[in-house]
This record gives sequence, C-alpha cells and structure tokens, in this order.
Amino acid sequence: ATVDAVGDGRPGVHAFLHVDAEGALAAAADVDSRRAAGEQLGPLAGVPLALKDVITTSDMPTTAGSRILEGWRPPYDATITRKMRAAGLVILGKTNMDEFAMGSSTENSAFGPTRNPWDLSRIPGGSGGGSSAALASFQAPLAIGTDTGGSIRQPASVTGTVGVKPTYGAVSRYGLIACASSLDQAGPCARTVLDTALLHGVIAGHDPLDSTSIDQPVPDVVAAARRGADGDLSGLRVGVVRELGGEGYQPGVEARFTEAVELLGKLGAEVVEVSCPNFKYALPAYYLILPSEVSSNLARFDAMRYGLREGDDGMRSAEEVMNLTRGAGFGAEAKRRIMLGTYALSSGYYDAYYGQAQKVRTLIARDFEAAFGQVDVLVSPTTPTTAFPIGEKVDDPLAMYKNDLCTIPSNMAGNASASFPCGLAEEDGLPVGLHVMAPVMSDDRLYRVGAAVE
Ligand code: GLN
Repeated sequence: ATVDAVGDGRPGVHAFLHVDAEGALAAAADVDSRRAAGEQLGPLAGVPLALKDVITTSDMPTTAGSRILEGWRPPYDATITRKMRAAGLVILGKTNMDEFAMGSSTENSAFGPTRNPWDLSRIPGGSGGGSSAALASFQAPLAIGTDTGGSIRQPASVTGTVGVKPTYGAVSRYGLIACASSLDQAGPCARTVLDTALLHGVIAGHDPLDSTSIDQPVPDVVAAARRGADGDLSGLRVGVVRELGGEGYQPGVEARFTEAVELLGKLGAEVVEVSCPNFKYALPAYYLILPSEVSSNLARFDAMRYGLREGDDGMRSAEEVMNLTRGAGFGAEAKRRIMLGTYALSSGYYDAYYGQAQKVRTLIARDFEAAFGQVDVLVSPTTPTTAFPIGEKVDDPLAMYKNDLCTIPSNMAGNASASFPCGLAEEDGLPVGLHVMAPVMSDDRLYRVGAAVE
C-alpha cells in the first residue's frame, strides 16, 4: 500500500525525483523469500525507505539534484545502500535535494523545489528537503540524508521529524557523491527516535572502502533510545550553548527551546549554561572550507566521465565541450561556490583564507572539547527560525547561509548531533527542533535525550 501511495505522491510536495515502484515491490517480495528460506532478518526488513539522491544506487539514477548528472546511472551501490539492502529495507526511490547538497531550502535543485507538507508555500529545509518532506507527508517511514553543514538536522527541524548526523566517519561515505569530503556525513531520518536508531544501527560501522571511516564498535544507539524512553535523565549533564540564541532567533523558536530545556531538567538532567566563544566564527570559516573542497570535488564533472555533454559536435575542442557542459550543467549556487573555492585555494591566498579557516576549525573543536569536559551533551535550537516561505531567501545567499548557525559547528568538529521535534511555534504553528550535540562516537547520548523528550 505504501508503494502505491508513493506512486501518487502527496500532490504538490515533490519529495521524490525518482520512484521505483517495481523495484520496491520486488525488494519486498525478496524479503519474504529470504524469511521463508530461514534467514534471520532484523526489525527493518520489509520497511520502505526514501533515499537522498546523492547516494549511489546501481538500479536507479543518481543526480545529486544536478542537471550535470541527469541520465547517469551509477555502476555500483554505495556502502550504505548495500547495507540497507542486506537488512531487507525497501528503497522506494530517490529524494529531491539542493544541487550537490548546497542549500538550506531545496530550492537549488535543478528539478524544481520540494514543498513543506506543513504548509506548501514554505520550504522543507535543505539540502535534504526531499527526505524530510517524504517523512512529514507520510510517504515513507524512514529516510536517509547527508549532513555537511546541517542538511539532515535543519530539514528535520522545519518538518517536525527526527534527523541524526552521526559522528564523522561513523557511517561510510563510499558511494556518496562528495560535497565537502571533510564535512560530509550520511545519517538516518525518521518520524520517531526509535525508528531513527534502528536505521542508524543498520548503516553505521567501519568500511575499509572509506579511508576516513572509524574502526571502532558502533555505540548501541537502539539500547540508548529504549533507555531514554523511560523518561529518566538523572545523572545526565546538559549544557545550553550561550552563543546559540538571542538576537536573530524567532521568539516562538526560543520559547519552545526554553520549554524543552525545562523538560530536560524535570526529567532529572542537570542543566548548566556553557560558553563556546569560537562558534561565532564557524559560519565564515565553513564558507571558506566548504567551497574550497567543493571546487576540487566538482572538478570531476568534466563532460567526459558522467551524464551531460553539451556541444560535442565533432568541431569543438575538449575544453570547449567541458566549458559548455559545466556552464549548462551547474546551477547558480554550485557556480558561486566553485568560484569562491577556486579563489580561496589559489596561490597567494591559500594561507589567508583556507589556512586561516582550518585554524578556526581547530578552535571550534577545542570549544567542544572544553564543553564536553563539563557536560555530557550540548543543546541549542536547531535553526533560528521555522520554515520560511519559498522564494524568500533565494536571492540573498547570506540570509540562506545563516540557517546553519547552530548546526555547522558539529560538522567542523566532526562530533555527533541531532534534531528532535519540540513543538510548534506560537506565531506560525510550524515545527521547532531541539538540537542536541554529543562528543565524537557518543552518538548513543543523542538517542537517550531524544527518546526522553519525545
Ligand atoms: N546549508 C548548508 C550549505 O548550504 C549545509 C549543506 C549540507 O549540509 N549539505 O552548505
């Protein structure tokens, strides 16, 4: 029945770029035959899932939201795709996203925006707005996102769903089309904390095919979610980040966040205020590091290896064909960041920009280290505002970038963090997210807190 529902989609939401109803039915039938043959499958076997279109699938196109990859079919499955298939998960299709995961609204998709199921005139967040909208419109109970600066957590926040960015290196990046390799992390999304934990358990773990993959046991996130559901947080120390709130934050967001913090206290947690003075530099440093890595990662789209090829009439040079292809294939935001990154990395500017930003990155990691010396988790709102109207920030990149003020520090430091629904803002009736940050490889703490406030 779910597959049929996805076939129609929820009118106007546009969560999916590609739906594979036949493939999904075949995968579901395969689960039945594996069970009949006596195979022990986990609790998610047969459960449908929406996959962000930045993760390779050998049986479906993968576009990363870009024209430049239109028509490309990957020759292989990403490690997480392979793991999900092995667990019997049924991949319904590929979800819409900002081109190459750059954006906070899914308006940068080459294939048209996704709309927020709570209010179709508003954005579903980005870059993974297709995945969050698929969850919020009940087209799928599980989804996968990727988070380079907030693209799992911000969409979760503005659609009232759960999104977890695991520790950097905890989930394989093999087969994930790179945005900024030192920041990118795939993670689980769902409508409940336990569902998210179960999916986390399926996709996490060491992968020899990813050189930055962490070779350590995965924390027991499912046990943590079950424990948290008891609603007892005694012994847990929670730090409220002073720098992430106040001016520029919507009153309704602050009100729900304050209530969530009070609830943590009522459930037995010890709540203190913590200062992370370098977090205010995270956004500018991120917008040097990210474009630098993007300019290098997107160089592979050269009109020869993948998808689109423009102007190849036998009369033009390879360079001309490449220029025409990249000119036609990349959208405005991708071009903006390629230019910024190429500039920041160019000789003579490297130390002033990229090198400086890397130093700031170290300072942010030190802020986290100091904070986690005092508390077990840190909290803040996930986003300064609720979902904004489609079109409001498309011509103002800086306003768009500010959505990620709270989420970017965790990408810079590589620690685990998540967004959990914490009610609706009074002024617009739209969802607000509680952002929880935990130390590297302590992803289980996120689930304990998330399940306790659910
Ligand atoms: N919105 C941020 C950006 O545009 C984060 C993107 C992401 O996490 N992929 O870069």
